Amino acid sequence: MNAKVDLIGLDADALSAWCAARGEKPFRARQLLRWMHQRGESEFAEMTDLARVFREGLARDARVGSLAVLSDHLSADGTRKWLFDVGSGNAIETVFIPEADRGTLCVSTQAGCAVNCLFCSTGKQGFARNLETAEIIGQLRHAKRVLGEFERGGGERVVSNVVFMGMGEPLQNYAATIRAIRLMLDDHGYGLSRRRVTVSTSGVVPMMDRLRDELPVALAVSLHAPDDALRDELVPLNRKYPLRELMDACHRYLEKAPRDFITFEYVMIDGLNDQDRHAESLLRLVRGLPCKFNLIPFNPFPGSGLRRSPASRVRAFAQTLVDAGIVTTTRRTRGDDIAAACGQLAGEVQDRTRLDERNRRQTIRLVEES
Ligand code: SAH
Ligand code: SF4
Repeated sequence: MNAKVDLIGLDADALSAWCAARGEKPFRARQLLRWMHQRGESEFAEMTDLARVFREGLARDARVGSLAVLSDHLSADGTRKWLFDVGSGNAIETVFIPEADRGTLCVSTQAGCAVNCLFCSTGKQGFARNLETAEIIGQLRHAKRVLGEFERGGGERVVSNVVFMGMGEPLQNYAATIRAIRLMLDDHGYGLSRRRVTVSTSGVVPMMDRLRDELPVALAVSLHAPDDALRDELVPLNRKYPLRELMDACHRYLEKAPRDFITFEYVMIDGLNDQDRHAESLLRLVRGLPCKFNLIPFNPFPGSGLRRSPASRVRAFAQTLVDAGIVTTTRRTRGDDIAAACGQLAGEVQDRTRLDERNRRQTIRLVEES
């Protein structure tokens, strides 16, 4: 028996090809996209503007997959975190961060991560596998459904921005990631603008060039250190793509980027990369490159052996950058009470006992309604 095709993971071209192979016109693919991604429909029988025979064929050969929810937590500050089971004991996380003027969804692209940055709990878990397009876009679809956006029928968006800052290195899962981005940007899919989708990378230089040529969206680069000696330690991928190459790739990316700056993320770790001299060498490093800095106070996790920089140090560091004319923001720590803070994604999954205990302690435990 043939396994049914999961249509959720097919972008417009793939879905058109699939429809064509069944003797259906390309506009059928657009109809299907709208049903699945704009209306959140999963039942072919409900897709009423499709011919009955086509619907019956779909029910026989295809399915609309969804992610299996392990837990769903709402933080006191409104941040919401879902943990999804992706099989073989692996879990991934998705975090929704509501703000006054936007709602940002932080999605994962891999179970674990092979880059193994010193300060990252995902990295410490090792690499399990790449997520499929269906699993990446499934996170957005799930969030929209649970947050009630589909019912609004094209009204005000709940999820207005997507950032690839969850588990994994998106540019080491390039093919699946770019197909998911296509669905996010598609007018018949999620209709997000390229400025509202941000890929965050630890610096996979050749893939930054590919993204630039194929589908340039907003780019965030995880910098974390101003020189190769320190960055080699913090972000081991730096040994392969050192800072000079990374900076050149940033310049090239800007030629086609939807925003006229690169966002540099910089985790602030006490005593390690947070001194005035680090800020000063950063200024030399990025001279001539239009950029913004986003300082992220390190989120400690068990066994990291690292500490968050004191708030006064973060402020002084930020001031040095601001004084040189660089727009600098400091990320507020969100969702601390549910371990949704950046870098803690699924950090506790491997230790189910702790996770269960945390779930019991949870003040608000949401059970998915559908
Ligand atoms: N792999 C990609 C995207 C996921 S990580 C990347 O590295 O850019 C998203 C962001 O979270 C990165 O900037 C990363 O450096 C940061 N991060 C990871 N662990 C963290 C921690 N413990 N505290 C604060 N930020 C962390
Ligand atoms: Fe991977 Fe990003 Fe974590 Fe580094 S910071 S280990 S690249 S997820």
